[in-house]
Amino acid sequence: MKKVGFIGWRGMVGSVLIKSMIDESDFKNLEPYFFSTSQAGQKNPEWNIKYKNELLIDAYNIEELSKMDIVITCQGGEYTDKVFSKLRKSGWNGHWVDAASSLRMKKDSVIVLDPINQLSIDEAYDKGIKNWVGGNCTVSLMLLAIHGLLKEDLVEWVSSMTYQAASGAGAKNMRELLLQMGQIYSSVSDDLIQKDLNILDIDGKAMALMNSGNFQKDNFKVPLAGNLIPWIDEDLNNGQSREEWKGQSETNKILSSGFKSIKVDGLCVRIGTMRSHAQALTIKLKKNIPIETINKIISNGNQWVKLIQNDKKSSMNLLSPAAVSGKLDIAVGRIRKLDIEENCISVFTVGDQLLWGAAEPIRRMLKILIKKGR
Ligand code: NAP
Repeated sequence: MKKVGFIGWRGMVGSVLIKSMIDESDFKNLEPYFFSTSQAGQKNPEWNIKYKNELLIDAYNIEELSKMDIVITCQGGEYTDKVFSKLRKSGWNGHWVDAASSLRMKKDSVIVLDPINQLSIDEAYDKGIKNWVGGNCTVSLMLLAIHGLLKEDLVEWVSSMTYQAASGAGAKNMRELLLQMGQIYSSVSDDLIQKDLNILDIDGKAMALMNSGNFQKDNFKVPLAGNLIPWIDEDLNNGQSREEWKGQSETNKILSSGFKSIKVDGLCVRIGTMRSHAQALTIKLKKNIPIETINKIISNGNQWVKLIQNDKKSSMNLLSPAAVSGKLDIAVGRIRKLDIEENCISVFTVGDQLLWGAAEPIRRMLKILIKKGR
C-alpha cells in the first residue's frame, strides 16, 4: 500500500478532506501518516481510522517526508514554499498533491479538476509529472457550473462577479467573522429589546463600534460582519487583485487539453457568509440559442450541477450558501437572456468552496494516484 503523508489536516480544507475521506472509506486503500507544522510529537487525533504513526511527525523533517510515496498538503503556500523544493532537491520522487496556489502555474504541475480535465491529468501522468495542485475555489466552482456550455464550445467570454465566504480565507478568519457578529450584537442587544428605539440610532452605535479600534479585525484587517471587502488576495498593482487574475489564468490552464480557451475577468468580493462561494456570471455565448436549450445544456454538464428554476421562491430557497453548504451540489440558477445583447446570459451559481472548491479535487486526485499505482 502507498504511504501517504498528510499535512494541514487541522485547517479548514484539511479537516473537510479528512471527513470526506472517512465518509468515502478512502483510508482503507492507503497507509496514512500524519504530520504537523506546530504539534510534532503530540498524539494523533482520535479518528476512527488506522494510522501508522502514534505521534505526529514534524512536517519540516525532509527525511521523514521523503519516506512517503505521496504527500498531500492543505497547509498553505508558505509551507509549500519552504518545503517543496528542499524535498525535491533531496531526491524525493513521490507525488506531491497540494491545495495551495504556489505551484499551480508551474510548467511541471497540473491544476486538478478531474471531471473537467481528466485528459490533462492522464497525459501528464504518462509523461512523469508528479505535482498535482487543486485550483482556485471560484475557478473550480465556475468551471463545474458551466461545464455543459464548455463541452459544447459555446462560451466566448465570462465576466464573474464573486461573493466569497469567510471560510475561503481559512479557519482563523471564519472564527473572526463569528466574533465580529457577536461583538456587534452585544453592543446593541439592550437597545434591540426597546421596540420604540430608532433603528438609525442602533445602526449608528453598531457602525461606531465597527469603525473603532476595539473591533476584532486582526485577520481581515477591516470589518466583514455587516460589511463587505471588495478585494481578495494580493494587489498586482495594475488595478487587478491576484484572485481576479487567477480567473483567466487558472481557467485556461485547466481547459488546456480538450477545450478552447476562453476570456474570463471580473471582480472578487469577500462577503460575510460563513461557507460556500457564490458568483454572478455574465456569459457571452458564441451563438444565439433558446433559453430552454441553454438550461438543458447547463443541467447536463455533470452529475453535480443542480439546475434551479429562475423564479423567486426557488432562487431564495435553493440558490444560496445556506442551501448548498456541506454538499457537493453545484447550484446553478438565475439563467436568463440579458436585454443588453441577445447572446449574453446571466447565471448565478453557488458551491461549497471547501468541497468542490478545495478538498474534493485533491481527494479525487489522491484516489486517481492510488488507482494508477505508480
Ligand atoms: P487554514 O484553515 O488557515 O489552515 C492552515 C493551517 O493553519 C492548519 O493546517 C494549521 O496548521 C494552522 N492553524 C493555525 N490555527 C488554526 C486553527 N485555529 N484551526 C485550524 N488550523 C489552524 O487554511 P485553509 O483555509 O484550510 O487553506 C489551506 C490552503 O488551501 C491554503 O493554501 C489556501 O489558499 C488553500 N485553499 C483554501 C480554500 C478555502 O476555501 N479555504 C480553497 C482553495 C484552496 P498546524 O496544525 O500545522 O498548526
